[in-house]
Amino acid sequence: MEDKMNIEFPESYPMAGGDGAHSYAQNSKYQRGYVEAAKEMIMEAIVKKFDIKTLSTPLNSIFVADLGCSTGPNTFLAVQNIVDAIELKYQSEDYCTREIPEFQVFFNDHASNDFNTLFKSFPPKRNYLAAGVPGSFYGRLFPKATIHIFHSSNSLNWLSKVPNEITNKTSPAWNKGRIHYTNAKKEVVEAYATQYAMGMESFLSARGEELVVGGMMVLLIAAVPDVILSSDFTICTHLELLESCLTDMEKMGLVSEAKLDSINLPLYFPSLKELMAVFERNRRFSIESIQELSLQDKQVSPQTLTLTLRAGLEGVFEKHFGNDIMDEVFDRYSKKVASTPIYLNLGHENQKTLLLSVLLKCKPND
Ligand code: SAH
Repeated sequence: MEDKMNIEFPESYPMAGGDGAHSYAQNSKYQRGYVEAAKEMIMEAIVKKFDIKTLSTPLNSIFVADLGCSTGPNTFLAVQNIVDAIELKYQSEDYCTREIPEFQVFFNDHASNDFNTLFKSFPPKRNYLAAGVPGSFYGRLFPKATIHIFHSSNSLNWLSKVPNEITNKTSPAWNKGRIHYTNAKKEVVEAYATQYAMGMESFLSARGEELVVGGMMVLLIAAVPDVILSSDFTICTHLELLESCLTDMEKMGLVSEAKLDSINLPLYFPSLKELMAVFERNRRFSIESIQELSLQDKQVSPQTLTLTLRAGLEGVFEKHFGNDIMDEVFDRYSKKVASTPIYLNLGHENQKTLLLSVLLKCKPND
């Protein structure tokens, strides 16, 4: 059996489960904005580029998979957009003589994701069959040549793991006193970039096996411009602010120096250039389009911003620091953003994060 089929259990930090006040389900409107912004692009891509006639397998059923689905509800919106677009295509003139196939949607996330909440909140009326698929999307998840469309939103910024060298005290890449690569020394930035590129290579290679020829992949990935100055505002600036809360707490003796030194967020925001390089290195996919999306709701309140960040990152922090200091960390963050309004405008006019949608198509093997 090939290496890729060895199912590993990598590090995982699922979003906050359940549907309570701190849950991802209740606090992911920012991410939802991204999925909403991609709706038109997905519709157009499927209508124009998902060529049912040239797919390598006959279509009795259409298999769609959402990778890194979390607990909902954003994943339901994303897959519904895809299913609706394919139905629309079938109803169009070219295909009206064919029966609309059945849809099977696979919802994938780490095994530690709160799949119960996901399953309990499926839309009561849906025109697709559903199944959960636990496991890391950095490895194989599906049989060869079975999936027609992959979707993934807000998930490919999570690394498969924290790069080893940044937690090693004897390495030049030791990331002392920092929780991320933002404004860290160049060895740290390079270690993160290498980890990201390796992960993406595994991701694309696994998907290249699983997609049918002619199948498509829609990836929504937060990125940054190729050139950014340390004074530029991006999504990473938020992580730096969070870091400053922990540094303050360390100075007050609420967090130990060793604990602060050893935490690193497994998150990466590639530049457009890095992303293009990753896609171009993989020969199974043609890049059909890369577009920048923009959010409808750009202004957020300090509470919403804090809850959004907390629902995503609490898992990492809690595992490292324990639950006791969580309220304090995020209260401090909330106060800091409230007193600095620049953090509350997530629009492109204010910050340089690029919300990219990437459309890839699977080519035949060389
Ligand atoms: N797609 C949803 C959720 C994004 S949150 C949305 O747009 O709202 C990111 C999700 O990716 C989390 O649920 C996290 O557990 C998942 N994730 C991160 N790394 C993963 C991996 N290697 N394999 C599978 N899921 C992963």
